[in-house]
Amino acid sequence: MTLSPDEIRAELDQILPRRTPDMKMTTMGAGSDDLEDGRRYLAATVAGGWGVPSWPAGLGGRGADPNEAKTIGTVLREYAVPDLYAYAVGLGMVGPTVLAHGSEEQQQRWLHNIASGAEIWCQMFSEPEAGSDLANLAMRAERDGDEWVLNGQKVWTSRGLYAQWGLCLARTDPEIPKHRGLTMFGIRMDTPGVEVRPLVQMNGDQHFAEVFVTDARVPLDALIGDIGIGWNVAMTVLAHERALAGESRGGGDGAARNERVPRWIQELRPTGVVGDSLWRQRMMSVHAADEVSKWTSSRAAASRNPGPAGSGAKLRKVASYKGRAYTSTDAQGAAGMLSDADGFIELVTAPSMSIRGGTDEIQRNIVGERVLGLPGEPRVDRDIPWSESRRGAR
Ligand SMILES: Cc1cc2nc3c(=O)[nH]c(=O)nc-3n(C[C@H](O)[C@H](O)[C@H](O)COP(=O)(O)OP(=O)(O)OC[C@H]3O[C@@H](n4cnc5c(N)ncnc54)[C@H](O)[C@@H]3O)c2cc1C
Repeated sequence: MTLSPDEIRAELDQILPRRTPDMKMTTMGAGSDDLEDGRRYLAATVAGGWGVPSWPAGLGGRGADPNEAKTIGTVLREYAVPDLYAYAVGLGMVGPTVLAHGSEEQQQRWLHNIASGAEIWCQMFSEPEAGSDLANLAMRAERDGDEWVLNGQKVWTSRGLYAQWGLCLARTDPEIPKHRGLTMFGIRMDTPGVEVRPLVQMNGDQHFAEVFVTDARVPLDALIGDIGIGWNVAMTVLAHERALAGESRGGGDGAARNERVPRWIQELRPTGVVGDSLWRQRMMSVHAADEVSKWTSSRAAASRNPGPAGSGAKLRKVASYKGRAYTSTDAQGAAGMLSDADGFIELVTAPSMSIRGGTDEIQRNIVGERVLGLPGEPRVDRDIPWSESRRGAR
């Protein structure tokens, strides 16, 4: 039975406080490595499956169809939902991927713990020479009896400092073309041989890390999907990441749906720009782009496999995040550059939005090739064994 918004409110009122106008929220966890608010919220919502309504009941969700899940998401924006950035890899990427590619045992082992906030995941894809060209990665996984042995280095691992699990893409066969020799693993971050070294970002985040992996032994059932289909699994992960980019589940973006004037514009009132027609035009054009971006993101996120729609959604999301951040800073004049200015954290987080989850240029390549049908880029190493490629041959 599909619940109406009022029925959803009646349930949520029992477990969550309503959002109040004075609540300030961070976006993308920026500048705050706090885990507790998110953990409390997820622990409170998991029994009703409210946090991830489309996941199966019993695995942290409530088996909602896409329409009902969307209604729940919209109603949740009326409540005090914290920024769930720390939990976003698990909730937004690992969960849907394990539902699509994982075994039943893996779904049982991981999903409820993700939905309840008991376990945090990080994404171990990028390497020093494999970012945009992810399929070129060199982390090796070799079978040894009943275990896989992993060796290599990851970098730019957000949440690496506090995650219990890592979603790790590794090369299981260097003798075939690069995309085909990859396999996905779910590994415990406290496995002996996994060393996390934090890197501090300019917005103050400290959870970002390099991860060095030396003879780390993981069990056979750490594999997500079959051996050699890691690229397909990674594409599922990335499409979900892009669809969700910049989205802090449940309204952490600070724009409550039922407010006619978005919060970030209301907060600019003291600067005087709200009364100026040219400024109003600029703010409303950012707001309009922001709304379109939310619709594009929710359309992409509603799909079990968002594919290239995720890239279109990410490009829009990045543009609207930057638009808001730069408009807010400009409106405050020179004072906007001070580290205690309103929106300063967003200002120093904004540039990274065009890089994380795949750069703007890469998203445009995907949209160009897979949506518009434009000719592909020349790719010289796609059909040769990875071991004979520039990197693999070293
Ligand atoms: C804040 C932040 C968080 C991140 N979190 C994670 C994480 O949790 N896990 C993870 O695995 N990774 C993470 N990353 C890494 C991110 O995915 C990579 O930085 C990104 O994919 C780009 O790779 P690169 O840095 O190696 O740049 P490169 O791939 O070396 O690219 C350099 C420049 O060349 C351009 N370029 C490259 N190839 C092409 C092409 N074919 N066509 C046109 N232009 C091209 C790029 O657009 C870019 O401007 C994070 C990055 C940031 C900034």
